[in-house]
Amino acid sequence: MPTLPTFEDVAAAAQRLAGQAHRTPVLRSRTADQMLGAEVFFKCENLQRAGAFKFRGAFNALSRFDAAQRRAGVVAFSSGNHAQAIALAGRVLGIPAAILMPHDAPRSKVAATQGYGAEVIRFDRYREDREAIALRLAQDRGLTLVPPYDHPDVIAGQGTATLELIEEVGALDDLFVCLGGGGLLSGAALATRALALGCRIHGVEPEAGNDAQQSIARGEIVHIETPQTIADGAQTQHLGRLTFEIIRRDVADIVTATDAQLVQAMRFFFERMKLVVEPTGCLGFAGACHAGLPLAGRRVGVLISGGNVDLQRFAELTA
Ligand SMILES: *Cc1c(COP(=O)(O)O)cnc(C)c1O
Repeated sequence: MPTLPTFEDVAAAAQRLAGQAHRTPVLRSRTADQMLGAEVFFKCENLQRAGAFKFRGAFNALSRFDAAQRRAGVVAFSSGNHAQAIALAGRVLGIPAAILMPHDAPRSKVAATQGYGAEVIRFDRYREDREAIALRLAQDRGLTLVPPYDHPDVIAGQGTATLELIEEVGALDDLFVCLGGGGLLSGAALATRALALGCRIHGVEPEAGNDAQQSIARGEIVHIETPQTIADGAQTQHLGRLTFEIIRRDVADIVTATDAQLVQAMRFFFERMKLVVEPTGCLGFAGACHAGLPLAGRRVGVLISGGNVDLQRFAELTA
């Protein structure tokens, strides 16, 4: 077991990211407050560079490459946002990037990744093992693999979103964080245990793929088939070794949201808050609204994780 990242790593990541990542706004909504009977604070990572929090972890990880690693380049696998983040961070830092993306990744995400100058390599996510392909590329070309969530520098970088939220609004009673492989949630846990002790952290994953819920219940990492859900950023098959350990140590519970609840949240963000949020980015708020947790009178943080959704898909889903 590699050592777990700590709050000090999150604080160091925040220094590396200063002037590189946006300090995204925290928005309020009276309607949301009324719906939950609480004070709700939305951290808007849909407004982050490349449209999702993933730039934080990617930039932090690539910043720590040595000279040889920088010359050879980085390889990453992702259904989208990690890919874009690695591609953009690579461009900013002058590090060449090769990205494995599934054939059915949203078109806007593929185009954006190529637009940042990365080489995109396609694969079939239902039949091929992307980790094996990435490892082979890493070996053949001497590239450094930066995984989307199970990496200390990635987790520490993602933690800076929660660090900023707590710095800005103060103590929270509850924090809702969407959950795929658990990088964002683990980072949130590291920031919260140092800055807002007593805050209950809730991970929210798609109902169709509740592997994290099962993993916590069983006390071991449960692997599932790629879940069929509109939350394409959370179609992960299992937690990582680091994220599992941090989540089971620090997270209060894992709840789930259905695709219909995600669509309802997408409509809410668009109509009430004028925010474009991708389905996965809606998990946190959907969990806060529907999981039945007691939130009345509490100070509730919600991480909105990303906003990358094709216009046509947005229209189809919310029609
Ligand atoms: C990657 C991603 C997630 C899931 O993050 P993990 O760190 O894998 O749990 C959630 N929302 C969006 C928008 C993402 O891009």
